[in-house]
Parts: sequence; C-alpha cells; structure tokens
Amino acid sequence: MHDFVYRDKNLYCEQVRVEDLARHFKTPFYIYSSKTIIEHYLKLKAAFREIKPLICFSVKANSNLAILKLLVDKGAGLDIVSGGELYRALKAGCPSKKIVYASVGKREDEIRAAIEKEILFFNIESHSELETINRIAKDLKKRVSVALRVNPDIETKTHRYIRTARAEDKFGVDFDSAEEILLKQDAFSNLRIKGLHIHLGSQITTGAPFVRAISKVLNFIQYMAGAGITLQHLDIGGGLGIVYDKETPQTAEEFARRVMPFLKRTKLKIILEPGRFIVGNAGILVTKIIYIKHTPYKNFIIVDAGMNDLIRPALYGAYHKILPLSKSKGQPSKISRPEAGKNQKYDVVGPVCESCDFFAKNRRLPELKEGDYLAIMGAGAYGFSMASNYNSRPRAAEVIVVKNKIHLIRKRETYQDLIRNEIIPKL
Ligand SMILES: *Cc1c(COP(=O)(O)O)cnc(C)c1O
Repeated sequence: MHDFVYRDKNLYCEQVRVEDLARHFKTPFYIYSSKTIIEHYLKLKAAFREIKPLICFSVKANSNLAILKLLVDKGAGLDIVSGGELYRALKAGCPSKKIVYASVGKREDEIRAAIEKEILFFNIESHSELETINRIAKDLKKRVSVALRVNPDIETKTHRYIRTARAEDKFGVDFDSAEEILLKQDAFSNLRIKGLHIHLGSQITTGAPFVRAISKVLNFIQYMAGAGITLQHLDIGGGLGIVYDKETPQTAEEFARRVMPFLKRTKLKIILEPGRFIVGNAGILVTKIIYIKHTPYKNFIIVDAGMNDLIRPALYGAYHKILPLSKSKGQPSKISRPEAGKNQKYDVVGPVCESCDFFAKNRRLPELKEGDYLAIMGAGAYGFSMASNYNSRPRAAEVIVVKNKIHLIRKRETYQDLIRNEIIPKL
C-alpha cells in the first residue's frame, strides 16, 4: 500500500499534486510519503506486538537523515553496515543502544567508533572479525556485545545479486564454525556473544524461507543450550518483499503468523531489520521526457533521470511501474507518427552513455509527448541510496510530503559539488 494515487487524473502524493512539485523543484527528484513510511513501520510493529521486537530500519535502503529521524522518532532502531551509516544513525538521533551493525568487512576505525558509541551489538561475520573486535575492545578497556551472523544455507527465490544465505555466499559463518566459536568464546575476553543473526536476502515474497531458516537457527540455539551456552538475542534480519509489478508478497500480518509461533516459544529478544518493506513503495522518482525517438525497431522515451539516479533496472533488471503525472491528455495511446503504427510500446531510457541505462523495456504506455512528466514508482528503497555521479550528473533532490506540507530533505547537487574534493596538482 502507498499514498501515491490519482485524483482528477493527476498523481498525488498524500495531499500534494506531484506535477506542482515537478515544476517547482525541477526534475529528476525523489518524493517520499511520510504517511506511507510510518504506516509500514507501524504495520510491522503491530503484527509482532506479542513479542515486542526491536525493529531496526536498514539504513542502506534509504539513508536520508529526515527519513531516519522520522522512524527513530516512532521508536525504531537502525541497522547499519558501515562507519558512514553509524555517523548518519547518530546524526538522526538514534539511541546507540538501538543500533546493530552488520558487514563482512568492518574496518578497524569503524569498529572503534561503534565500540566508543556503545551500540547494541555487532553482527559478526567471521572468526577474524571476532579477533579484531576483541583486540580493539581490550585496547579501549570495554566489554562489547556481539551476535554471530550464521549462514543458514537457505535457497530464496530472489535475484542472485540480492540473496545472501546460501553456503556459497560471503555472509556469516556456517553452523559448525558458529558452534566452535561459541564453545571457545572465553578466548575472546572482551566480547560477550549474546545472540545470533540471520539475513536471508532481499525482496523475499513468501514466509517459507524465513520459517526454514528460523527453525534451523532455533534448533541450533537449543543444541548449544544443551552444551551450556545460552543466548539472549535472535536477529532475523530483513528481506520482506514488496509489490513492484504483479508480486503478491506476504503481508506483515501473514509474515508474523508464519514465524511468530517459533519465536514465541523462546525467551529470545527478537530483532527485525526491514529496509525495502518500510520505504520501497513510499518513494517515487519523478522525471521529465526530454525526447521521444522512433526507430525502425523501437520507440524510445528519453527521460532526464538516469541509471545514476536509480540503478535497480540496470543492476538487477528490476521492474518499476511508470506512470504519467497527468493523465488528462493521456488517452489510450495513438501514436501520431505513421511509421510507429499501432506500436504503443516504448523503451524508457536515461541520458547516460550505457545501454543498460533504462527504466523499462517494451513497456506499453499511454500517449505521451516531450515535456511530459513521469513517475517511476517503487523507488523509495535502494534508489537514492545507490545513486552516483556517473557522467558527472549532480545527484537528484529529495522531497518528503507530510499531508499537504512539502519539505526539501536534500538539495539537488550543483556542479561545484561535483568537483569539491578534486585537486589539480601543480606539475
Ligand atoms: C540490506 C540488509 C537488510 C535490509 O534488507 P531489505 O531487503 O531491504 O529488508 C537487513 N539486514 C541486513 C544485514 C542487510 O544487509
């Protein structure tokens, strides 16, 4: 569900007509609905109310400070994957005891900062990382809480780039190594291994993989309890899928109904790390048609947003719905150019000099003309957070709507921004 709907043939975000924003802010820009973000968070919270989990929003899905603050103010914690995200989490006012930190490659300076800030725990991904964190903790004379990320070796039906929980993936440790580490944890004098962590991947639309992974982990926890090792936390990660096209993902309620029976039987404190579920459908990318070009093979709509603004189609072949901001002229397509015939299908592409710079291929769209605005839907997660300056394109502005109010939450970059850190040496 989301709050981008047509009223009178115009696309609205909450109570604001998006085309008005497009004229005001210029394109491309991202626009988010605060209501959608909060509703998604509250839906998950309500679904799991019986076990009162800590819900740590995954910062990498959308790391704008305003969005982090919105969620933190509602009681959310944050799931971070770098020192930069720790910096953001703290700037957004997140209590450090609500921050969990996963990453296969945490650097020493990042670890040191997180220990000094006393985050809730590190999700540890290797034996070497344990040794490093222990050494730094000793150095800082601190006892540090950690959880072990286990790789449950589970198949998920999602794009291979966003699955993370098969034996061959780089994340976490296998159960045998986890057992060895837990049994020998006294060797890590300054660490307390308090829990386990799993994260199966992203855009997972069914409960089955979660159920399989959680049962595996709970069996392991029970087995370790037999060996006298008790754990207090289980972090079940993120990965809940959303609707981009015709998917029928589980709802928060359905998800909770599947996994809660397992979790309720334990006394473990549960942590969730949703990213996409919270923000995915709460944001769109607004762009303007620069040119329409007909070739003997294709019709191209060339827009002013590019893969540098939203890389998901180029990276994962991801599907995003594309809607005109105004449907008033958009009667069912009747392309005027005779050579285009009855073909109403377009490739919607950006200006970047790469053939993978597209937003849609062979997409049926209503009649459109140069200068019209389009909304690329479902762009709230892994949209701006993956944006780059490729082709020396300043990164887009971001705007959030709260009912009928509009707040700019990131200025569009300028050309000065592009070269800010560059130095021409005197040769
Ligand atoms: C990316 C990530 C998430 C969030 O995944 P979504 O699919 O956006 O919910 C959660 N936990 C970890 C460890 C991650 O790396």
